[in-house]
Amino acid sequence: MRTLRINLDAIVHNLDVMRARASQAKVMGVVKANAYGHGAIEVARTLERAGVDYLGVADVNEALALRNAGIATPILAWLHDPADDFVAALSASVDLGVANRQQLARISAAAAITGVVAKLHLKIDTGLGRNGSTEAEWTQLLEEVKALGEAVSVVGIFSHLSTTSRTDDLAQIEKFDSAVAEVKKLGINFELRHLTASDGSLAYPDAHYEMVRIGVALYGLDPFSTNRASDYGLIPAMTAVSRVAQVKTVPAGHGVSYNFLHRTKAETNLALIPVGYAEGLPRSATGKAEVQIGTKRYPISSQVAMDQFVLDIGQDPIQIGDEVVIFGDSATGAPSADDLATACGTINYEIVTRMGGRFKREYFGAGL
Ligand SMILES: *Cc1c(COP(=O)(O)O)cnc(C)c1O
Repeated sequence: MRTLRINLDAIVHNLDVMRARASQAKVMGVVKANAYGHGAIEVARTLERAGVDYLGVADVNEALALRNAGIATPILAWLHDPADDFVAALSASVDLGVANRQQLARISAAAAITGVVAKLHLKIDTGLGRNGSTEAEWTQLLEEVKALGEAVSVVGIFSHLSTTSRTDDLAQIEKFDSAVAEVKKLGINFELRHLTASDGSLAYPDAHYEMVRIGVALYGLDPFSTNRASDYGLIPAMTAVSRVAQVKTVPAGHGVSYNFLHRTKAETNLALIPVGYAEGLPRSATGKAEVQIGTKRYPISSQVAMDQFVLDIGQDPIQIGDEVVIFGDSATGAPSADDLATACGTINYEIVTRMGGRFKREYFGAGL
């Protein structure tokens, strides 16, 4: 009744596109938040088979779920809660981002308990104002890392761009280089510097360092949300479809869905689609977005509800069971995630990541 079709071939293709862009640099496939709604385990397995160098997640728990599913590729988790289980993380060979001294202390305690050398990626806030060590505390953090000696191994130094403007990003790149210089000055060895996500990797080829962290582009979406993923050769991996659950004829002047935002102008037919905001279709799509049945677009002119929305299909020969494309690959003529995002005043990231509810994911491609 409601399906998210996930094209694993597209994900492999997008990995190749970004790998070619990254030339020498390693590629981390970012699979946080259930792989942006695409299904973390299936996507991680696909990326692993396609030879991705690293996987990236926010939470330790996301990393542990991948390890439990048999994923052996190096994984970095970087957004920690004081209750996160670093003992489990180290036992499962999960690399850990370090943003402050408290985290470092907890990780070193976990290293002592497990006897496992903690693999660290030290994160410097170069200006985004989010996760990461302040510049003021960076030296002290580095000194404490150094004092831990062989209990820890610094794999990476990383940061994250704001992509506010080129000037802002170049300032961050400069700060990143100084932060790295400080690491070297203290004689701390590391393997990988990584800074750019999808947007920065496309915009700043000189800032790929030894690794790039690619999320949204793997899913075939434009990181700038300007609906131009195909300009980079990326293919959208998610198509959200449903089926017409009911068709009925109603007279002129009939109200349709809550608040009667739509009233029929003449005798017409209404098609009921069983997808609502519980599935991640934003309520703000009401009156703004379009869906596709066959080759024709229909505006969502009535209120999107929790479980359903209704289309005024006029005299079109639509039947119960006909497929409705909520969004997909615009190359097939379907509305894109960007179209839906624009209609709802958000970005493609949020659209795909929030798809869920009663949707079932169906995978195809990549040797399945
Ligand atoms: C989510 C995230 C990424 C991936 O970003 P995309 O824009 O989806 O490529 C990379 N690095 C960090 C720190 C992130 O939080």
